[in-house]
Amino acid sequence: MDGCLFCKIARKEIPSAIVYEDDTLVAFKDISPQAPVHLLIIPKAHCEGLGDLTPETAAAAARIPQVAALIAREQGTLSGGWRLLSNCGPDSGQTVYHLHFHLLGGKPLGGRLCQ
Ligand code: 5GP
Ligand code: ZN
Repeated sequence: MDGCLFCKIARKEIPSAIVYEDDTLVAFKDISPQAPVHLLIIPKAHCEGLGDLTPETAAAAARIPQVAALIAREQGTLSGGWRLLSNCGPDSGQTVYHLHFHLLGGKPLGGRLCQ
């Protein structure tokens, strides 16, 4: 989608540190990491978030946990555990309206999921 930051990253029009890519998904390092490992996993096809899935993006999104586990196995620093989450809408704090999952780990993440 024109003007969408993560579409531009998926098309490599904006540089990012890509750690995984296949036909429908890309994973890259978050620009402002909140943990030693902080990656974003996105479908290449645009949708705003989990509330706006299309058949194409739903099929891609369904594979994200599997890809997260694959990345976690490859990143030794995630051997202690990791967290996968997606913000959806303003109350969640979503700031980029292209569906993405945060993959976080590399330290104890704490038990609080909200303040
Ligand atoms: P949200 O708040 O929407 O759940 O997450 C958006 C994430 O995108 C944030 O963690 C933010 O640091 C990250 N982000 C924003 N702009 C860029 C960028 O240009 N490149 C990368 N790699 N990450 C970005
Ligand atoms: Zn997009």
